[in-house]
Amino acid sequence: MKTYQIATIPGDGIGKEVVPAGREVLAALAAETHGFRFQFEDFDWGGDYYRKHGVMMPADGLDALRGKDAILFGSAGDPDIPDHITLWGLRLKICQGFDQYANVRPTRILPGIDGPLKRCSAADLNWVIVRENSEGEYSGVGGRVHQGHPIEAATDVSMMTRVGVERILRFAFRLAQSRPRKLLTVITKSNAQRHAMVMWDEVALEVSRDFPDVKWDKELVDAATARMVNKPATLDTIVATNLHADILSDLAAALAGSLGIAPTGNIDPERRYPSMFEPIHGSAFDIMGKGLANPVGTFWSVVMLLEHLGEHDAAARVMAAIEHVTADTSLHTGDLGGTAKTVDVTRAVCDFLARKEERKAA
Ligand code: ATP
Repeated sequence: MKTYQIATIPGDGIGKEVVPAGREVLAALAAETHGFRFQFEDFDWGGDYYRKHGVMMPADGLDALRGKDAILFGSAGDPDIPDHITLWGLRLKICQGFDQYANVRPTRILPGIDGPLKRCSAADLNWVIVRENSEGEYSGVGGRVHQGHPIEAATDVSMMTRVGVERILRFAFRLAQSRPRKLLTVITKSNAQRHAMVMWDEVALEVSRDFPDVKWDKELVDAATARMVNKPATLDTIVATNLHADILSDLAAALAGSLGIAPTGNIDPERRYPSMFEPIHGSAFDIMGKGLANPVGTFWSVVMLLEHLGEHDAAARVMAAIEHVTADTSLHTGDLGGTAKTVDVTRAVCDFLARKEERKAA
């Protein structure tokens, strides 16, 4: 029987609640499936680790993850540690160390969820945002001089390489091609940012010639926000830079009903390294430790993880379980206006997985 090696990194805040819930769902699935099983290894990296060791993860941490089939990640963020340390010391270290250059973020309005857009039906909003995840505005290039003096200067240089731009656009065209509508929107800001963003437009045109069956258009990022709200059905697959897609995907998550639902995958499309799956929300310290976190974003991340492993039937089963559970408003957590707890939602998903198997066997 195939055994998948899965690393779990709960990290900080509600990550410590939703990742164990995700692991429970994977274990419940494996128990019923008989086709494969999981071997989990848990890593206690994050804010608490930093307080003990002065680093968010050990220097040889990537080596411990290298042989895994996938990573399930929670969140990194701590009220007592600056955000740039928690982010660069853990999540980005893994994303960059394993060259997970494609960040993929599906968005849909799941059954039972009341999205904030009055004129939008669930069928109108079915997007997948592809975020460039290795360079651009978050490449980490820049510096500060004369700190604290009036002449202080600071730069964050946005690095765009032709290789980096071409590989993310190629990935996005391929993804768009695999979806029923075969529709891609390339988002830039090539009017004001007249160097790298113009290169994006040029490379997009070049790459598009290899995908004649994909219909594509271009949109400026500011106009894209309005289009997402006013004409959601005109969008399907969306590709944008690291910063732009970071912002657009939070907007997308909010339009789909809650930050607590949205998943993401940090993918190495060439499969040289393990890919990492996580809910898009952060550590949410306001609700941590109370059992209130919505685990659906993590469960949907588990679906993406299973798809990445090629376990498409299992992925579809977990997605069906999620949709069954969101359709029942008594299983909505506080972020969706309900009173359910993390444990209630987790139990309902696991129960559904078990029930489905019974029905299949009968
Ligand atoms: P970070 O700084 O790590 O990004 P944050 O607390 O600033 O974290 P988020 O955690 O992304 O930002 O979310 C903002 C708010 O949305 C939280 O304070 C919380 O109230 C709510 N929220 C986010 N995720 C969830 C969830 N899974 N379940 C319930 N509420 C959530």
